[in-house]
Parts: sequence; structure tokens; C-alpha cells
Amino acid sequence: MAEWRHRGSVSRNGYTVGMDFQEIPQQDGSIDVIAGGKRLVCVVCGGTHFHERNSLLNTRAATFFRFDWANKEAANFICAQCGYIFWFMT
Ligand SMILES: [Zn+2]
Repeated sequence: MAEWRHRGSVSRNGYTVGMDFQEIPQQDGSIDVIAGGKRLVCVVCGGTHFHERNSLLNTRAATFFRFDWANKEAANFICAQCGYIFWFMT
């Protein structure tokens, strides 16, 4: 299995967050996703078609669990083949 490397910009407090996403629409309504210059491939089924969903992470839960870093917007890419959800901080 390919090594997963998260390439992103380093913010002031040292956390690595954010990545460039490129979405290529497909005829069936799904998208191909290029993440950080590499094609996103499902780690479960190997599929390359996804559906996108932008979510706002649950602020109350984030506060409860002291995940203050999670109190922001996230990008979800849902595998069109098996339903596995990729979840990225944006
Ligand atoms: Zn999949």
C-alpha cells in the first residue's frame, strides 16, 4: 500500500493543515480528486470516483472533546464505489 503523506502548509502554531484539492467532474456525476498533486484512491476498494460533501464539524462535540482544532470546515470525499469517507480539514 502506498505511503500516505499529508502535504500541506504549516500554520503558525506548527500544525500541518490544509491541502490543495482539484476536482475533475465525471459523466456519472461523481468526481476524480487530485489531492496535493496526487490522485485520491480509495484505500478500501481502490476506486477513484468520489462524491463530495462539505461539512461543518460539530462545534459542540468539538468543544466537549476539546478538539478545538476541529472547529472548522471540513471537506468530505465519499467513495462512489464502497462509501468510504475521506475527511479532510480545509
Ligand atoms: Zn471505496
